[in-house]
Amino acid sequence: INSKLPKVTTTIFATMSALAHKHQAINLGQGFPDFECDPRLIEHVHQAMLAGHNQYPLMSGAAPLRQAIATKVKSLYKHDYNVDSEITVTAGATQAIMTTILACVHAGDEVIVIEPAYDSYVPTIQLAGGTPVLVAMRFENGEFKIDWDEIESKISDKTRLIIINSPHNPTGSTLLTSDLEALAQLTRDNQILILSDEVYEHMVFDKQAHLSLASHPELAARSFIISSFGKTYHVTGWKVAYVLAPQTLSAEFRKVHQFNVFTVNSAMQLGLASYMQNSDAHLQLASFYQEKRDYFRAALAESNFRLLAVNGTYFQCVDYSGISDKSELEFASWLTEEVGVAAIPVSAFYQQQTQNKLVRFCFAKKKETLDAALERLTKL
Ligand code: PMP
Ligand code: GLN
Repeated sequence: INSKLPKVTTTIFATMSALAHKHQAINLGQGFPDFECDPRLIEHVHQAMLAGHNQYPLMSGAAPLRQAIATKVKSLYKHDYNVDSEITVTAGATQAIMTTILACVHAGDEVIVIEPAYDSYVPTIQLAGGTPVLVAMRFENGEFKIDWDEIESKISDKTRLIIINSPHNPTGSTLLTSDLEALAQLTRDNQILILSDEVYEHMVFDKQAHLSLASHPELAARSFIISSFGKTYHVTGWKVAYVLAPQTLSAEFRKVHQFNVFTVNSAMQLGLASYMQNSDAHLQLASFYQEKRDYFRAALAESNFRLLAVNGTYFQCVDYSGISDKSELEFASWLTEEVGVAAIPVSAFYQQQTQNKLVRFCFAKKKETLDAALERLTKL
């Protein structure tokens, strides 16, 4: 077959999880919690099923869930999204990303992607016939920063979309007000749209607030903002997420969405809606993960890994050049097979070769899991 994605293989997350399984390694690779969600959330889903919510919900998403999302977004970011026309429930953020890109990227359009970048962005742009224009973040003194001047230099009359992601996977960096201003400046006098991947919106640490593009009216007016319940409620396997976008953009999104999945499982949606009406769990998430971050970092600080800053997400990147000069993929494989701890090479988030010696650990794990991994990692 004449492949549409000749360079793509199985994603690094599935690959490293399979390797971890094969070698019975502790899996700090693929990002998912190894603990259960709030049992009350499961109870709400159960009740929704018993109440007969087992047929197709509305194409845009179950109304109570869209209402709960609108209420949350308004309370956090002071932006009113119309419940009927500006919020769409999706089958995970991955589908939301693909549907957004298919809805607005025409063949030949350019899309600015900031690297390191989540692995679905580039192949999805290519499937839409678009051209990814890659801009690497600057990596200086152990910190990743976006170079807005370089982004400006890559904008052309073919630029259709810019993809941003904050809090950022894998670096754990977050956008500042100055970044939002720079983005507003770049998109002010043109037709460029923005896909803002905010799936880690509730994991921002050290009392900082998440700067959603929803809180910036000028940016919100041209943005598709994506978040995922998988991250917020510890249910990555449920694959329920949502997209916020102004009416004209949401209408285009839905034209594709209806043929992409049409709609998303009803009991999960209604269970999430009634849970959200009765819980402020999302507000506790930052302190919950900050504790894990601090615990993991304090122990690794004693090791030969060098820790990068983590302002958000449940990922910790480390520099291993004090331990090995292997490439990132070789090191992550060796760590999984020989040390028994799986990690993700940061090179998997780049299209081009990098010179870094970085791997990513996920700390969304029980204390026992972190302890067992730390015991192995601190010996290196
Ligand atoms: N974007 C980013 C930055 C992610 O880290 C992830 C999940 N790892 C996704 C999107 C996809 O989220 P979902 O599981 O809801 O499809
Ligand atoms: N987003 C998760 C991560 O970065 C993995 C999702 C997936 O397995 N596709 O680890």
